Amino acid sequence: MYDPPQLDVKARLNTNECPYPLPASFREDLASAVRDLSLNRYPDREAGKLRAALARHTGQPAEGIWVANGSNEILLQLLQAYGGPGRRVLIFEPTYAMYPRIAWAANSELVRLPLEPPWVIRAREVFDTSKADPAMILVCSPNNPTANTQPEEVIAELASRAPALVIVDEAYIEFGGTSAAPLVRRFPNVVVVRTFSKAFALAGARIGYCLAHPQVIEDLRRVRLPYHLGALTQAAGLVALAHREDAVRILDAVREQRDRLLAELPPMGVETYPSFANFVLFRPPRPPKLLWEDLLERDVLVRDVSEAVAGCLRVTAGTPEEVDRFLTSLEEVLA
Ligand code: PMP
Repeated sequence: MYDPPQLDVKARLNTNECPYPLPASFREDLASAVRDLSLNRYPDREAGKLRAALARHTGQPAEGIWVANGSNEILLQLLQAYGGPGRRVLIFEPTYAMYPRIAWAANSELVRLPLEPPWVIRAREVFDTSKADPAMILVCSPNNPTANTQPEEVIAELASRAPALVIVDEAYIEFGGTSAAPLVRRFPNVVVVRTFSKAFALAGARIGYCLAHPQVIEDLRRVRLPYHLGALTQAAGLVALAHREDAVRILDAVREQRDRLLAELPPMGVETYPSFANFVLFRPPRPPKLLWEDLLERDVLVRDVSEAVAGCLRVTAGTPEEVDRFLTSLEEVLA
């Protein structure tokens, strides 16, 4: 199961959400957009206005953009379209814990290739990938939970060597790293998947999108349910894009707290890894499960990722107050 706890604690730093809500002006614009909707009618099944706004935002033509309920649904639709019995989906581990679940839900065979720190895909893994003959290759960059990125050349190499669809999950791209989006024009088998849940501060709205060759979008139309994206969601996405300057301001504040975590953890005897995302992977000098419990007792919720990366936990860059509470509690627990 994939059910990270949803507990009412003072510092909720376990699901990589944005810690700040969008400002009041966003909420006012959203309220008036919602007031004008004709909810007695089905929504625009092509989400035309939202895709046109995303085309302006990304520079990708609207025919090469698709929108769904969170990037998880985009990933599920891609696997439903291109997976199925006898088709393999290859992932590089450690990575996002939902990939095996989505592969299972789409009845596809999972191939796992392990990576060593710093978790960059090398020539050897590119070779092993071709040998496995997958229908799809899933690359997470920046990766959850390790927070490293994959170089653009690696994605290009995977796309040019394999007939597979190369899906690049860029859920955290606004926080750092180089996007694979320019490769979508060069390679018809590269898909870039993004979300409004992190940098756009809209996890509650459930909006994800992908950039791909128009033929891929056509294939997604075959598997999506009719009117899959509600009018309320489409309206929220449009208003969020109109307020993207607000989201950019929040980004800087989040990156500042991430860099503070990276600076303050090592002097406490805690090992950290470089981060291009809004979270930090760290290895405390104590068993992670016990530490997780001790932090929870102090009203701090982090993610135990020790099954993916031995000995490690993951903490989201929250507000300065949340990060204060996390660091003070950790200091107490380690004393
Ligand atoms: N991909 C990655 C790497 C993630 O970490 C997450 C959320 N934790 C998602 C996709 C899913 O995000 P959403 O469905 O909210 O867009």
